[in-house]
Amino acid sequence: MHHPSRRAALARALALVAAAAVPRRARAVEPRMVPEPVPVSVEVAEDEAFATVVARYDVRAVPAFAHSVHVDVDGLRPGRWYVYRFHAGQATSPVGRTRTADAPDAAVDRLRFAIASCQHFEHGWYTAHRGLLAEDLDLMLFLGDYIYEGSWGDDPVRSYLGGEALTLADYRVRHAQHKTDPALRALHAAVPWITTWDDHEVENDWAGDRSEYLDPGFLPRRAAAFQAYFEHLPFPRSRLPGIDGFRMHDTLTFGSLARFCVLDDRQHRDPQPCPGPSKGGGSTVVADAACPSLGDPARTMLGADQEAWVDRTLAASTQRWTILAQQTLVTPVDWNPEAGKHTWTDGWDGYPAARRRLLGTLKKRKVSNPVIVGGDVHASYVSDVRLDPADPRSAGIATEFCGTSITSQGSTVEENEATIRDNPQFAFIDGVHRGYVAFELGPTTLTARVRGVDTKDPLAVPNTLATFTVADGAPVVRRG
Ligand code: FE
Ligand code: CA
Repeated sequence: MHHPSRRAALARALALVAAAAVPRRARAVEPRMVPEPVPVSVEVAEDEAFATVVARYDVRAVPAFAHSVHVDVDGLRPGRWYVYRFHAGQATSPVGRTRTADAPDAAVDRLRFAIASCQHFEHGWYTAHRGLLAEDLDLMLFLGDYIYEGSWGDDPVRSYLGGEALTLADYRVRHAQHKTDPALRALHAAVPWITTWDDHEVENDWAGDRSEYLDPGFLPRRAAAFQAYFEHLPFPRSRLPGIDGFRMHDTLTFGSLARFCVLDDRQHRDPQPCPGPSKGGGSTVVADAACPSLGDPARTMLGADQEAWVDRTLAASTQRWTILAQQTLVTPVDWNPEAGKHTWTDGWDGYPAARRRLLGTLKKRKVSNPVIVGGDVHASYVSDVRLDPADPRSAGIATEFCGTSITSQGSTVEENEATIRDNPQFAFIDGVHRGYVAFELGPTTLTARVRGVDTKDPLAVPNTLATFTVADGAPVVRRG
């Protein structure tokens, strides 16, 4: 049975990353790195003045990893905040703050976290990240589309350097350009982040080892994207990806209050069913009746190993709230009921048998207060998830909060109204606003605030579009 040691959980929360090559200005983004290793020292302290340094490491930032350093910090106490900084040559970094996870049996009476996803650099300013900075979070969950491999959309406020990312150098430039944004950097420096990816960290709609256009050179491209993702985000050194992949799924506990299961529904999935003839792979919207393979019970979203890991992890969990942090929407959406049920094949709707197995695990393991969080769809969706999600009479098994995008283009008012009209299974749908969802967990109640913000005005501040609560013991969302 896999039960994460406290040390592993602490390392997960505390893995620090510094990209020594982060450019100050976009024009400097061309990777003009020194070809040699650079000695870097890392300090972790209890106080902002660094009077009580509790850990110090000397490491080397090497060109093979874009001069990033990944330091797994040992010997820290659980459930408290620390600060850290990096020194290289004459330079000292700004100070970052992070906190350790609470010991698994500790009584914790409050945890604040937020979910966000889909931060296309061109589509808007990171006003949502400025809002998140003011939320007093313990933990940030970023659920995919941290970068986009290409340009699309209307009314850009800024531009990506270069065309579609294909090579390691291209993906590094993408990540480095994102990190030129001061609001994104500030949020990384303010709270620990847990990230999982979706498709655009690599390529639109990729599925396992298959690209949208069945590109025979996809696996080297995928490996390049994985490496750049590892380099630029806070993963422990042990998670360095190899040619066979990147172990993304993980679990983290905050005392007896909360367990997070971070899932990867991209890397191990079967291809989407019934792809359009022009692409060969990728997603589409199909009439269910015209796509018999949609119902194939053998098709998987998580892969057999990860499914078994989820089952073991949830069986062993003793926490009160169980947050499944994954990429996309679980509750079904009908995209054209007037013409018979229509399904978008990239989300869980494209993998109904895999969804039944995941929800069956929640029931079989009597998982305590399952809360599913996701992103991907550039709209906020709030719902009760039924054991048979397509049957409104079946029992509630979990609640779901899918966050909108940080910036990536969403739907029009008219499209949004049609989705609401056609899908009464949702308590809330909003694809018009960009933003995030901020959560507060306590022993008896989860509170979720759906926050919206203008991304075309760089000074805009978020406001609350709707507030929901979930009571301990009842998987039902209540508005207000
Ligand atoms: Fe996206
Ligand atoms: Ca996506």
